[in-house]
Amino acid sequence: NHGIGSWTARRARKTPHRLAVVHQGSRYTYAQLHDRTTRLAHHLRSLGVRRGDRVAFLGPNHPAFLETLFAAGRLGAVFVPLNTRLADAELRHCLTDSGTSVLVHSPSFGAFAAASGVGRLVAVDDTYDKALAQAPNSPVDESVALDDLMMIMYTSGTTGRAKGAVLSHANLTWNSFNTLVDADFASDEVTLLSAPMFHTAALNMTCLPTFLKGGTLILEESFSPSRTLDLVEEHGVTVMFGVPTMFQQIAAEERFTEADLSSVRKMMCGGAPVPRALIRTYEQRGLRFLQGYGMTEASPGVCLLDAENALAKAGSAGVPHFFNDVRIADPAGHDAERGERGELLVEGPTIMSGYWGLPDATATAFTDGWFRTGDVAIADEDGYVTIVDRVKDMIISGGENIYPAEVEKALYEHPAVADCAVIGIPDEKWGEVGRAVVVLAPDAEVGAEEILAFLDSRLARYKIPKSVVLADALPRSGAGKLLKPRIRETYGTTDS
Ligand code: AMP
Ligand code: MG
Repeated sequence: NHGIGSWTARRARKTPHRLAVVHQGSRYTYAQLHDRTTRLAHHLRSLGVRRGDRVAFLGPNHPAFLETLFAAGRLGAVFVPLNTRLADAELRHCLTDSGTSVLVHSPSFGAFAAASGVGRLVAVDDTYDKALAQAPNSPVDESVALDDLMMIMYTSGTTGRAKGAVLSHANLTWNSFNTLVDADFASDEVTLLSAPMFHTAALNMTCLPTFLKGGTLILEESFSPSRTLDLVEEHGVTVMFGVPTMFQQIAAEERFTEADLSSVRKMMCGGAPVPRALIRTYEQRGLRFLQGYGMTEASPGVCLLDAENALAKAGSAGVPHFFNDVRIADPAGHDAERGERGELLVEGPTIMSGYWGLPDATATAFTDGWFRTGDVAIADEDGYVTIVDRVKDMIISGGENIYPAEVEKALYEHPAVADCAVIGIPDEKWGEVGRAVVVLAPDAEVGAEEILAFLDSRLARYKIPKSVVLADALPRSGAGKLLKPRIRETYGTTDS
């Protein structure tokens, strides 16, 4: 077994006494974490988990998240991390679509879990530690191949519901290699993780590479800018990870200019471009961003802009990771001329094999073996890639991606909505926020409040538009497609 599940044993062999995880009052060395993971693997097996079965985790950052991931990997089972911000209906879709047989959940999701229909539940409370104590810690020797599935990560898209990106042990391992090579992780990193681990970048670009090198992970259940500064000083944090909005909030803290940030060596930022002003703010504190561009389907690293070029190439997503390749294609799929825009395609050992149970969506996601990112890019004379637009309709709000198609689908379920379009409008704090432009059915008498309340039970809060504008009609093409650019032009100004 050379899969991800073997990492705890390998780390425990090399660095048993090093601190692996710190979470609130709990601290586990690599030897302890390995012991707990072995016991959890036995416990999951006693609940019926076999090779290929899906084991999901639902809860905030916690050592049990990692223990479940590694224990599933040991058994050759597939780990399904779930986004705690999703609405119940969305979570149920992820569970049934993946065919999850065991759900490990924090106590806060007890009521949801009990009603979820999943056959076996493991609550991360006192009973969890008791179950681990009672389970054997004898070796678990399943044979696992690197090409076996390790994770199904759900990601929204332009076609309605979330799809499961199928990632193998090899995909995730190569992504860690890319990170170690390009971001130069050392064996003494102290990595602060206050962004949610169910997101691909926090887990796969930050957590796993730190673990692979034997560093220490500080797990926070939620993000607080002032607490972040405390934690950096208290633990001598060397690696910080976040989306631009988080770094913006940290910089807005009164104490930011005096805080002792001298331990910080790497600030990994991804998911959206880092505004130049923010780069300068941190530059004044002697800190430079490593800016990542990627996606769930790529495990996720595709390009990285390193710290040395952060200012010279500001706005760019950098060059491809060491083991990945990109190209820019014209609509016919041929290479675009240098300096010409086109869809960015990516190829390499980190790219998923496909979407879980969706052969058609998988087929359209690839062109001649290259994954279509849906992002429009330009490369400069040094090969630095800049994302300039999107082929896909998507809004990035505070580091979360919102697909208008998903929101529009939910809006159409309201009987008073005759037609609708969701667009992104600029926002100082979140980068972009959603706005719904709605055409009401004749005689319908509902206000914006009621429409937004309707979305509450159907969509994650961050996907719900911040404003609703009523319109008489929406421009559509001859084929019936919404003309988004025209809708943005008419309704996209912040004050409409
Ligand atoms: P996800 O599948 O949720 O991981 O989202 C992936 C998408 O987020 C990409 O296809 C891009 O559209 C967007 N994205 C990620 N990183 C960046 C970045 N550094 N700059 C611009 N867009 C980004
Ligand atoms: Mg996605």
